Parts: sequence; structure tokens; C-alpha cells
Amino acid sequence: MSFTSLGLLKEITDVIDELGYAIPTPIQQAAIPAVLAQKDVMAGAQTGTGKTAAFALPLLHKILQAKNANNASRIQVLVLTPTRELAQQVHASFVKYSKNLPIKSVVVYGGASINVQLDALRNGCDVLVATPGRLLELVMKKLIDLSAVQTLVLDEADRMLDMGFIIDIQRILKTLPYKRQTLFFSATFNDDIFALSKVLLKDPKLIEV
Ligand code: AMP
Repeated sequence: MSFTSLGLLKEITDVIDELGYAIPTPIQQAAIPAVLAQKDVMAGAQTGTGKTAAFALPLLHKILQAKNANNASRIQVLVLTPTRELAQQVHASFVKYSKNLPIKSVVVYGGASINVQLDALRNGCDVLVATPGRLLELVMKKLIDLSAVQTLVLDEADRMLDMGFIIDIQRILKTLPYKRQTLFFSATFNDDIFALSKVLLKDPKLIEV
């Protein structure tokens, strides 16, 4: 199994070659074709399994395809994470994977200057990585437009619920297009996680690694 056989554009596989990733990890083998096929995904995966690339690579592929059709830079991918550290890590992965591509990732989180984050957003943003509290603040103040979001990723959904972000997440969801793809990643599953996934996902591909 190679990255090329998963259906990724050459622009993406070139970056993977440069990084020296030879073989897709199990979660990548399962998730990449599903994301490219526009499926919702529910994946149980710990950090270290390659889960970030499992969603970042096919989402960059899709943004690149959309850009070929229409050059506008609007937020097409929204990734929610429970902590600022994870937001920074996921953003850094998008930057690493898109370094040769005309795609911009921006990260916003609480406890840091909102003006600096707004400047970054005004500079163009295709992928937004955010913690729920700061994103909701931007949404409520009408400082951000999420109406072009094609894919929502919930990363470490279990930790987001543990940290009490459910109300913030529900309020953010109301501002997203109803017709979208949703990718749900969680290290653990309990009744609350299943309940949230039921509301969010349509006929998801289930992935356990
Ligand atoms: P993650 O589980 O997303 O935190 O990724 C764990 C680490 O594995 C990161 O440092 C990635 O750069 C690296 N990685 C992801 N996919 C691959 C792959 N297919 N081959 C080698 N390393 C990878």
C-alpha cells in the first residue's frame, strides 16, 4: 500500500515523499479514501497513530481541487481541538504538509491576542484550527465567516466533552453549513461521545486502529 494508491494528487504525494513517509499508517489507509469520497468518518485513534495526516492530507487534496475551480480563499476546513497545544500542533502539521501549496492555515485559541489572530485571518485562510471558546467569541462578534466550511473535524472529541465544551460546540455547529462533511476523532468512546456522533454524522465510516 502506497500513498499514491490512496488517490492523492501528485502535489500531495510529493510533500509526503519529501518528508520521507513511505507507507500510510492503518488509520491513514482507512481514512484517506473515505475523506476523498466525501464520507463522514468516526475514528477511534490515539495520538501517534498518524491521525493528523489521516485527515490533513485528503483535506488539502480537496482544497487544492476546489482552488483549481475557483481561486477564492475562504475557510473550507474547520478543525476543533480541546487545547491550545493541540491546536498549535495540528496547525503546524497543516503548514508542514502545505508548504509547497497555495493553501493557508490559521490557528486561533484563547489566552492570546485576538487582533493578531484577526490579522492572520484577513491575510487569507483556507484551513482554520481553533479551540471552541475563542472561535465562538469570533463567531458571536461576527468577526469570522464560516459559511463556506465544507468539512468539520472534531479532534480528540472525548477531551472536548470532558472539558465542558459541548455548549460552545453546539453553538458553533449552528453557524456551519448543514450540508458538509464531518470527521470525528476520539481516543475513547462512551455514551456522551456516541450521542454527539449520532447528531453530527451521517452514515459514517467507522475506523478503529
Ligand atoms: P499523529 O498521530 O498525527 O500525532 O502523528 C504522529 C507522528 O507520525 C507525526 O510526527 C507524523 O509526522 C508522523 N507520521 C504520520 N504519518 C506517517 C507515515 N505514514 N509514516 C511515517 N511517519 C508518519
